[in-house]
Order: sequence, then structure tokens, then C-alpha cells
Amino acid sequence: HTSDHQKMLEAHALLQKFYHHLLVNTKEGQEAFEYLIQRGFTRESMEKFQIGYALPSWDFTVKLFQKRGFPLPLMEKAGLIIKKESDDTYFDRFRNRIMFPIMNSKGQTIAFSGRVLDKEEQPKYLNSPETELFNKSSVLYNLHQARSFIKKQQQAILFEGFADCISADRASIYNGIATMGTALTEQHVQQIRRLTDNIIICYDSDSAGTEAAYKAGQMLVEHHFNIRIARMPDGLDPDDYIQKNSAEKFRQDVIGASMTFMAFKMQYHRIGKKLQNEGEKLKYIEIIINEISKLENAVERDHYLRQLAEEFSISMDALKQQQLQAFYANK
Ligand code: ATP
Ligand code: MN
Ligand code: MN
Ligand code: MN
Repeated sequence: HTSDHQKMLEAHALLQKFYHHLLVNTKEGQEAFEYLIQRGFTRESMEKFQIGYALPSWDFTVKLFQKRGFPLPLMEKAGLIIKKESDDTYFDRFRNRIMFPIMNSKGQTIAFSGRVLDKEEQPKYLNSPETELFNKSSVLYNLHQARSFIKKQQQAILFEGFADCISADRASIYNGIATMGTALTEQHVQQIRRLTDNIIICYDSDSAGTEAAYKAGQMLVEHHFNIRIARMPDGLDPDDYIQKNSAEKFRQDVIGASMTFMAFKMQYHRIGKKLQNEGEKLKYIEIIINEISKLENAVERDHYLRQLAEEFSISMDALKQQQLQAFYANK
């Protein structure tokens, strides 16, 4: 139903405006505002990303919708309010949270993600449920703003969290996009494909982010993207890194120092291995030779074989022979 669809969009736009106003202009929003400032958010990024605050009330949005003539059953369908089992009344989904509007590629708000202020509370991020408007496995956060930059620069930077996208924007990186806490999907890939073939994956450098980067990398390589991997030290995420260091250092030492997927794999397969142990060392060399044998470019193959040869004092002849065997074994 088109008019229902339209009403749901209007409700999101209305709430976004209220949440934002509450955050930047009111006493009720002051604690949330200060939390964001202390995390390094600026007033400009609050404006640009239309960040807001939901009051710790059970019926602020319910009352607002009633006053403005938005049918409550439709607002429930939009994921903005929840119906009580007991007496068929409604209550607000988002309470006492910092509100991030999630926009579609046209820049229309189709969902929210609300972050707790208090570390103890769970979950850290509460998203709108899947609705007619919001399909979290197809949305790329910030795509509507990043699109023209991705096209012009012929490069997209893929982040794990939308906080990273917002921090990167503060570091004058405008081609950043993020998934909504899900793995990368075919739908995401198709949308990026229309803009560029070049992607820098800049996921969190903790173990979950490292695993996710490996998987996303594999998938993008299968789709013939040119990818590079950017990593932060000490398990940090991009947002942590920018706060701890600087925007300039992030651009130079993280994005500027991004590595090839092969170089990342060489690091990745070392994790948890004791290379002083002969068996583990040989296992590692075998895995890497196998990966090298999948590279299409002969110069690249030679480059990484040489690196292995030097690090482990093995002859190039032996490595090449082994690499050919791996190549035919994989055919
Ligand atoms: P912050 O810096 O505010 O702690 P983050 O971006 O570092 O947030 P991560 O824990 O790294 O958050 O998670 C990455 C992404 O995963 C988030 O941006 C969010 O989309 C999603 N996410 C995290 N926790 C949840 C949750 N409890 N429910 C739904 N999605 C979540
Ligand atoms: Mn993470
Ligand atoms: Mn993170
Ligand atoms: Mn973070």
C-alpha cells in the first residue's frame, strides 16, 4: 500500500527531527550530548548524520503519533512502537538511547539504531526490526552521502560499524560505508559494484573483525573486486584509533598503509601458530604456498614466494615446485 509506505517514511522523518532536537537543544539530551562529545563526536557530525536522543519514556513516541494522526498499528509495523500482549496498548521501542537514523540510498530514513549510554545496559545497539522499509542485509550505512565520492575516487572504504563511518568522515574520509552489523551479502556487493571495483576493507582489528575481514575479502575477490585490507594496531577499531591518535595518522598509517589481501592472509594464518615449532612452521608454509598458487598474476606469485623463501630460508626452486603441485592439486 503506497500511502502506508509513505506514512511510515513520514513517521521516521518526524522522529528523526524530534530525536535530533532533543539531543542538541534540550536539557534532557544533555547527558547524551556530552557522552558523544567525550567520544570525539562533533556538532557538525551530529548534524550531518542527524544523530539524536530518545527520552527515557515509555510513551513519548506513542503520544506524538497519536497527536499527529499516525495510526498506531501502522507505526508498530514500522518497528517504532511495540504492542503490549496484555491490554493491546503500545509503548516506545527506543528509550534512553542515542539514536542513529539509518537511511536508504535515497537518503530517506527507514530505520534507527539506538545506542545505550550506560555500559551495563544491553544490547549495546538496538536496531529497528526488519520491516517493509528496512532490510538490514541490504542496507549500507552512509551510501547516500558516500556514493558520489566512491564514484569520483573509484574506491570505497568498508567499515564494520557506523560509528567508524562517522569518525572517518571527521577525518575527511567521505567514501566510507558500513554494514549494519551483518556479514557482507550479495545485495551489498551488487550495490557497490555499480560504483567501483576497488574496496578497502577496514574492519575492527579484534578477532571478530579480523575473521569478518577475511570472509568479506574472500567474497569480494570471488566477485573480482580489487581489495586491500587496512588494519589498526592492538585490536582497535577505526573509531578508537582516530580518537587515540589523529585523523591525519589514520589517513596516513592506516588507510595509506593498507595491504594486499595476500599480505593480510600471510598475517592471518600466523595467528595462534607457534612458528618456532617445526610442524606448525611447515603447516604455515604449506597454507601460504596453497594461497599463492591461487594468484593469477605471475609477478605477484613470484613476489610472495620470494618473501617466504627469505623469511624461512628455503630455496626458490623448492617453493616453486611446491607451488606448482598445489596449483594442479586445486584444479
Ligand atoms: P561503539 O564504538 O559505539 O561501541 P562499534 O561500532 O565499535 O560501536 P561494534 O561492537 O564493533 O560496535 O559492532 C559493529 C556493528 O555491529 C555496529 O555498528 C552495529 O551495527 C552492530 N552491532 C553491535 N552490537 C549490536 C547489537 N547488540 N545488536 C545489533 N547490532 C549490533
Ligand atoms: Mn566489532
Ligand atoms: Mn567496533
Ligand atoms: Mn567502536
